[in-house]
Amino acid sequence: MHGFSFFIIKAVILQYGTKSLDNFCNLYYNSKMKYYYIITYGCQMNAHESEKLARIFRDKGYEAAESAEQADFVLFNTCAIRENAEQKLFGNVGAIKSLKRKRPSLRIGVCGCMTQQQGAADSLIERYPFVDLVFGTHNIDAFGSYLDLLNSRKGRVIEVWEREAAINEDIGYYRTDRVQAYVNINYGCNNFCSYCIVPYVRGRERSRSIPAVLGEVEGLLASGYKEITLLGQNVNSYGNDWGGKDSFSALLKEISRLTGKFQLRFMTNHPKDLTRSVVECVASDSRFCHAIHLPVQSGSNAVLSRMNRKYTREDYLSRVAMIREILPDVALTTDMMVGFPGETEEDFADTLSLAELCRFHSAFTFVYSRRRGTVADAMQDQVPEEVKTERIKRLVALQKEIASSVAKEYYQNKTFEVLFEAADTRDPSRITGRTGAGRLVSVKGDPSLIGTFGHVKVTKAGANSLFGELTEV
Ligand code: SF4
Repeated sequence: MHGFSFFIIKAVILQYGTKSLDNFCNLYYNSKMKYYYIITYGCQMNAHESEKLARIFRDKGYEAAESAEQADFVLFNTCAIRENAEQKLFGNVGAIKSLKRKRPSLRIGVCGCMTQQQGAADSLIERYPFVDLVFGTHNIDAFGSYLDLLNSRKGRVIEVWEREAAINEDIGYYRTDRVQAYVNINYGCNNFCSYCIVPYVRGRERSRSIPAVLGEVEGLLASGYKEITLLGQNVNSYGNDWGGKDSFSALLKEISRLTGKFQLRFMTNHPKDLTRSVVECVASDSRFCHAIHLPVQSGSNAVLSRMNRKYTREDYLSRVAMIREILPDVALTTDMMVGFPGETEEDFADTLSLAELCRFHSAFTFVYSRRRGTVADAMQDQVPEEVKTERIKRLVALQKEIASSVAKEYYQNKTFEVLFEAADTRDPSRITGRTGAGRLVSVKGDPSLIGTFGHVKVTKAGANSLFGELTEV
């Protein structure tokens, strides 16, 4: 307690006696500012949900801490997509035990996709008795009431709802980025790809209404945001749950009516659901970025069928042709998986040949990992680890070659309009901006340009990074 507080205590004792001092101290400690620290794993969806958790913390009087060591409450927002995310989480929760030992008043919470998985919350609370709060994805909106409970009584709070709740439009987000913002348009997924845990931990599809999404986008633009990314597990099925027809195009058309300068992106698309009219909407408004992420997963029809992706290699290639016909300068990106159960060398060769045909600007390449509770986990013919490792190396090498040649063709010595987003962490004299295609480019420039648009000539284009010069602002 600092000098000023000591002076007040003295004054309280003199005027009201020691009993009043007790009351005063209680008040002092109860009103003492509390700090939160959120550790987020996984995708943009989770990062955005952490913005909601931060909003709830702040509404309850907490401020952000710079590290777990400085926090009164450490909250892990978990991911369940890959097995290593779970192992990492267990390691990190275990590591925080020493902090709790030193400072027993520290509260520790775990939420997100992992806790929503069947049995995961039970094993977590058994293995880590020092964890105070566990809740799942379906009851995230109740987080504020769990904070109240923890602050008003002793003991742990453990609650994981089995079913998804209705969309709650009353809780906002605490955003730290001042330039780009995520806006959720739908939640959950109905697709049940055989390797994926998402439908089990995020529930069935639920879409926000067009006025709710539009209102949020308008509010963000009015407060100065320049880039909006619409988020959903499958944005192309937006509105299907309320019987809408091509509702995602309808939403894009509404957003197109908004005035002002901004960039609009969306993710993720499902190849079976991306329609011509969505691509035409993108082409019709220069503020909509010509960047489409279209996860293919595999180039083999046999594997796609076992993955339950509901499209064939031929369907995928015809979608790509349609996109390129309407948006010739599109930056197409994808996800590709190797080592799915039963994947033969021939199947893998089909993935390599599809990558060569599509010439993706970039690809997220990864090795299949078993997820408990999914159909693929029970499949025979799991591919041996050494085969997966050898295949992923070949795929990464091929994609790197493709990405660097595409980068040279697409970017080298060309000028692009860029939205400056942040200081370049590698060099304080530089800032980074993002092209409409979604690529980061680093330029020499003043941080005052962050949040503005400018034109940049790309002077060096590599597979993963671009460098350029500012031509005009
Ligand atoms: S579309 Fe498939 S991969 Fe994507 S979230 Fe749904 S089930 Fe998972």
